Amino acid sequence: MLNWDSVRADFPVLNQQVNGEPLVYLDNAATVQKPRIVIQSLVDYYERDNSNVHRGLHALSMRATNGYEGARTRVAKFINAADPAEIIFTRGTTESINLVAHSWSKAHLKPGDVILTTEIEHHSNLVPWQQAAKASGATLKYVPVLGENAEGGLDLDALDELLTPEVKLFAFTHISNTLGSINPINEFCRRARAVGAITVIDAAQSIGHVPLDVRELDCDFLAFSGHKMCGPTGIGVLYGKQELLDKLAPDETGGGMVVTVDYEGATWKPSPERFEAGTPNIADAIGLAAACDYLDSLDRAAIAKHDHELGQLAYEKLSTIPGIRILGPAKDRCGVVSFAFADVHAHDVVTFADEDGLALRGGHHCNQPLMRKLGLTSTTRASFYIYNTAEEIDVLVASLSRIQKFFGG
Ligand code: PLP
Repeated sequence: MLNWDSVRADFPVLNQQVNGEPLVYLDNAATVQKPRIVIQSLVDYYERDNSNVHRGLHALSMRATNGYEGARTRVAKFINAADPAEIIFTRGTTESINLVAHSWSKAHLKPGDVILTTEIEHHSNLVPWQQAAKASGATLKYVPVLGENAEGGLDLDALDELLTPEVKLFAFTHISNTLGSINPINEFCRRARAVGAITVIDAAQSIGHVPLDVRELDCDFLAFSGHKMCGPTGIGVLYGKQELLDKLAPDETGGGMVVTVDYEGATWKPSPERFEAGTPNIADAIGLAAACDYLDSLDRAAIAKHDHELGQLAYEKLSTIPGIRILGPAKDRCGVVSFAFADVHAHDVVTFADEDGLALRGGHHCNQPLMRKLGLTSTTRASFYIYNTAEEIDVLVASLSRIQKFFGG
């Protein structure tokens, strides 16, 4: 049994007051807090090993290289990739998806082809495909979402009609950052394979919360961000199957990714170097590896259970507040709960809740088309992680009731 109190004690930032109240941090879908072990790994690297990687022959450069390449191996193990060469370090989910949308799309898409995505995607897994469709002449199609509050999740029956042999790529999120719904990604990968489409999974909201195994999924690409899994900001990952990466042209060129260069041209190294031009984010890759160690030391299945239970409890307790509109499914949800009041703007909710020490998020959560479809401009979002407690949900409910009263609700 995990001791969740001791988990909370691993996060120094949580031990503070905001506006005279204990901090209740419920903005985890935007970014999660960092445990001491991750912060210390950054300090250790800068205090002992800081140097540039790869071509250096001195001790510090070799240590930095070992740290950076060791981080790649660690991340490969975290998602059960077959080979560290399948792990490309990027700035985060957004850059990872853009890399596929540029490089893969340029080489493979033509007019008549279809890119399939869903109506619930974050802009990071939507705008790059709009751009890829425009550049290639391919058509972009969306799996629709069901219900006036999107409580039905994605319309899986529509998938039968949408997943045709014209679909060359199917890009979908694992967990919705607004609805808290969990997509059946195993099924999506299987059905995409059946029509010969490659799969791109946006794992931004799942990587820190649920175990992920890319070989079991048999997905082609998977993208995530370090800062949503206890790691630093500015580092993320694109996982890609080796046979696909080997055939992909680089999106960025420059130092570190070439074999030979002459005044006429250059030749590329294999993956992952081919996709990592310039000095990489060494320290944060090392911090990301420390985050993998930390999460594995806690047991990722237990983390998933904890976060999902808090999400469910929050859904149930918030449902008792008169006039609240909660998005997403009533059951089988993760630790993200997003809601709206008819007469109080989400920004007001967040500002007033801050007075009670709560960190919430209000806005469109980079889901503008979904918001528009649901007749909303914004929602307030509470999102939970390993250090949150059932008592904090009570603080949230009390604060929301106070805000409602203030606005005459
Ligand atoms: N995809 C989803 C589902 C997200 O929630 C986010 C961030 O909130 C992103 C992509 C983008 O992640 P990043 O800003 O770290 O690139």
